[in-house]
Amino acid sequence: MNLAQHLSETELSARILRHAVPRMSELDIPVTPDNYAVWYEYFLGVNLDLKRAIDGLLSNKVSFTPEVNASLHSNFIQEKSPEIIENVQVETQILINSLMSKLTSVTTGTAKFSVSLSEFHQDLSKSPDRQTLDRLIDTLAEEVTDVVKSNKEMEQSLSVMSQEVSALKSEMENLNMVAMTDQLTSLHNRRAFDAEILNHIQCFRQTHTNSSLLVIDIDNFKAFNDIHGHLVGDKVLAYIAIALKQGVRGEDFVARYGGEEFVVLLPDTDHSGAVVVAEQLRSRIAERKLTIGKDKKLSLGAITVSVGVATLRHDDDKESYFVRADEALYRAKSAGRNCVKG
Ligand code: GH3
Ligand code: MG
Ligand code: MG
Repeated sequence: MNLAQHLSETELSARILRHAVPRMSELDIPVTPDNYAVWYEYFLGVNLDLKRAIDGLLSNKVSFTPEVNASLHSNFIQEKSPEIIENVQVETQILINSLMSKLTSVTTGTAKFSVSLSEFHQDLSKSPDRQTLDRLIDTLAEEVTDVVKSNKEMEQSLSVMSQEVSALKSEMENLNMVAMTDQLTSLHNRRAFDAEILNHIQCFRQTHTNSSLLVIDIDNFKAFNDIHGHLVGDKVLAYIAIALKQGVRGEDFVARYGGEEFVVLLPDTDHSGAVVVAEQLRSRIAERKLTIGKDKKLSLGAITVSVGVATLRHDDDKESYFVRADEALYRAKSAGRNCVKG
């Protein structure tokens, strides 16, 4: 029987943590998010290939060097779909949150206990009338001192554990952020956009908050790359990302959808408002003459973008909403580029 049967998700995660972390430390494997994902899967017991591989390593007494750990991760975890990896991350986060709150309450409780025991100790030491009472006090005092001492040790180890858990939690948060960020431009990536467009649809259905979407595509970028090279092309992508980010409000959501295509979700914005924003972004980009090189002497000319605009409707799902903006973009390209349609 594997651990996945008969347990709630949190119980399961907690149980896996209790097995995985001590086993990992026994084998000198650092508890990084990648390594934890491997051992989480191992103790979950449903990834049979991974289980066989690790059991083989264990029975051959192979040591878990950083290379071995990395290859386990890349062969058995990374190749899986991002959704599965995301699930592991979410479950781990739930677990860590619940563990943190438990640890906090245990630590607080123990601290109170230590204080009251110390007070009891002091009271008893103040009234030594009879010999028997003296002895009793001595014994009690010793016991109390022991309890205080062992409580202090327990508090210390709990607080170290709690620090480790916090570190793990922040590593998980970083990992999540990396998974949602486009590396070249530091904008949100397609994955983050997919989540945000669903938020917009939900908000619209619940509170009738308007939403508009811009799909922005760089004009003739293939030719630009052919002339100036891919590296210069990459710099232009980063520049466009900054121009878009600076050209919208803080609550607007800018993402790189892929290649030389960007998307902007505008909350609380109707169609005419969105067209105004799109036109501002388009002209801001077209007006800038780009230069490159040490003295900024080499002119790259102007980069232009075409923009398609759509505004969310009641019968939309995320596909129909996106397709409407994309079709408008196509019309902008057909109309000669460097323009806004919607
Ligand atoms: P259009 O005006 O119709 O959009 O023409 P286009 O050349 O921009 O469109 P097309 O889809 O034919 O080509 C897109 C080009 O974008 C292909 C590729 O050279 C470039 N591109 C896509 N992603 C990247 C990237 O990450 N870096 C660089 N430098 N170029 C990229
Ligand atoms: Mg293009
Ligand atoms: Mg394109």
